[in-house]
Order: sequence, then C-alpha cells, then structure tokens
Amino acid sequence: MKVRVAVNGYGTIGKRVADAVLKQKDMVLVGVAKTKPNFEARLALKKGIKVYASSSDRIKLFDEVGMKGTGTLEDLLKEVDIVIDCTPSNVGATYKPLYEKYKVKAIFQGGENHDVAGFSFNAVCNYREAIGRYFVRVVSCNTTGLCRSLYALDREFGIKKVRAVLIRRGADPAETTKGPINSIVLDPVSIPSHHGHDVQKVLPNIDITTIAFVVPTTLMHVHILNVELQREATEHEVVDTLSAYPRIKLISATEGLSSTSEVIEYARDIGRIRYDLSELVVWWESIKSFGREIYLTQAVHQESIVVPENVDAIRAMTRLIEDPEESMRLTNESLGIGR
Ligand code: NAD
Repeated sequence: MKVRVAVNGYGTIGKRVADAVLKQKDMVLVGVAKTKPNFEARLALKKGIKVYASSSDRIKLFDEVGMKGTGTLEDLLKEVDIVIDCTPSNVGATYKPLYEKYKVKAIFQGGENHDVAGFSFNAVCNYREAIGRYFVRVVSCNTTGLCRSLYALDREFGIKKVRAVLIRRGADPAETTKGPINSIVLDPVSIPSHHGHDVQKVLPNIDITTIAFVVPTTLMHVHILNVELQREATEHEVVDTLSAYPRIKLISATEGLSSTSEVIEYARDIGRIRYDLSELVVWWESIKSFGREIYLTQAVHQESIVVPENVDAIRAMTRLIEDPEESMRLTNESLGIGR
C-alpha cells in the first residue's frame, strides 16, 4: 500500500518536497495546499498535481484567475496519512491543531521550534527514533549539514568539541525583500548562534559552539569547522570517513571548484533540476589534521539539502521501511543523489 501525502505550503521547500514525493514508488502525492494562485500553482496544475486553497476564504482567489482549486486544505487533510508542512517559519506551528483534528501525521521544517514536534530528525543520525511518530521536525539546512559531517566524525573518531563559523546566504534566489545587499551581518553579534544548540536536538552529546554571519549571496551557506577529536586522525582517514557516509560529496579545488558559484555551476552541468544539490559538499583540500584537531570547510545548498530528509521521515513515521539504510538508498536512487 502506498502512503498518501499532502504538502502544505508550496514555496522553496514545498515544491521540491512535492516533486520528490512524486518520484517515490511507495508514496502518492494527493495534493498541495497554497495561499496564492501564482505561477507555482499554475505549474503544479500543469504537472497534474491537485492544488487546494489553504483556507476557504482563499478559494475565490483561485477562481478569479480561472484556476479551479480542488477544495481547501481541510478537504485535502481528509484524504491523506501524512502532511509535510512547508509553510514559512513559525507558521507551521499554527497548523498543528488542524493536523491533530484530522488525525494526520505531520512533518514540520527547521523554521519551527523543536517543541512543535518534540523530535528533531536527520536520517543518518536518528531515523530509527522517528519510527511510528506522529510529529517530526526536519532540522534546518544548516543543522542538516552540520549533523551529516559531525555524525560521521563522531562515529569514527569520537568528538570532544566543535567550534564552527557559519557564513549564511542572505536570501534564496527568488526572495526580493531579504538582504543584506552590501554588508556582512553578525547574526547574532553575541556568541553562540542558535545553530549549535539546534545540532544538539539531534546529536545531544556533541559539544558545539557556532558563530554565524549573513552575507550578500543567494547560492549556498559555507561552514568552517574546527573539531577536536577523541583520537588522532589523518587527513586521509577523515576523507575516507566522510566519503563512506551517505549524502556527503567530497569535491576538489583542483577541478576548478573553489567557490559556491562554481559548485552551483557544477550542479547545473550535471543536470540537476533547479541546480539542486542535496548532498553536503566538503572541500577535500580544506581538510587539515593537527593530530586530534581537524579543520574542514563545507557548503550547504539551502534550498535542497532537507528534501531527502523529508522523504525518509515519511517512511520512518508511517513505518513503510524500518531500516534507515534501505530508506536512504531508495530516496537517493530516486532523486539521483550520489555519494
Ligand atoms: P517559502 O516562503 O519559500 O514558502 C512558504 C510557502 O508557504 C509559500 O508558498 C507561501 O505562500 C506559503 N504560505 C505562507 N503563509 C501560509 C499559510 N498561512 N498557510 C499555508 N501556506 C502559507 O518558505 P521556504 O523557504 O520554503 O521555508 C519553509 C520552511 O522550510 C520554513 O520552516 C523554513 O525555515 C524551512 N527551510 C527553509 C530553507 C530555505 O533555505 N529556504 C531551508 C531549510 C528549511
């Protein structure tokens, strides 16, 4: 039997998650809920996706532009087993009572507080703990990236502590009202930023402090990690370890990849839709060992890194598959995600 899935909020993350669900043999996308009948709604309809208005007072907006909506979010919730909430940060929490009313399981995104779901998810770190749950929060793009590399390093070498600097993109490419356009913003000025604390929602035993800056770029985030390990590791051992874990891509500056713009050009050239790169990217040459202390630099494509995590969360919560490796393998294969 296929799991019936709804997506509420069809923006940057929602449309990618909806496309990913369409590619899963064990899931069916029943429909998506939208506030506005914009070009994304029209393109969804063109793809054969059923579009529902997010509330009854919005149906007329769809009617006015000749988009015959299928009903409202509440109609959609009656038809599904699980909803992926991809509404803007802190809006998802306001929908929780509605999901409860229709007894529909729900996945929230990283813009919500941990407490909304009571469980923060990353497939490689804690898939088994999500099995059968009613509510799960897939952590943010930055936290997902940090969790992937830190989990691998902790498993292989043991982590004593992590100090990380995050250089965050100012906005997604389609966002017209966010910035900065000519500044480096200390976000926040004080230490730490919230990201380390968020990593601990998934990996509670990691001692991590993060500092974050926001810069005028839309392509990717970059993280500089300084990690103190429990035992010594050579650069080759670190490379081998990261390469062995799913959804981490080692790249090399010798191939002309020494900036986020070149990494995104690479994603375009390998034919990734919307230039999505769901893998965490780690620069091979940035890995430096001083015995127990290592450095590495990694990049996160913020618009797509959480997409496979949402697909795996669906499988765990609905008990489609209880083996994390198997779920990740299916997700990666269907989305063309390599190691
Ligand atoms: P977005 O603004 O691109 O998309 C949100 C969508 O929800 C839009 O289509 C918007 O019209 C719709 N919407 C607005 N209010 C609504 C409401 N009341 N009911 C239903 N729909 C409503 O946002 P996004 O970037 O896709 O972010 C969604 C979530 O994913 C947030 O929690 C965010 O923190 C998280 N996230 C975003 C990124 C990223 O880089 N964009 C990365 C990881 C996680």
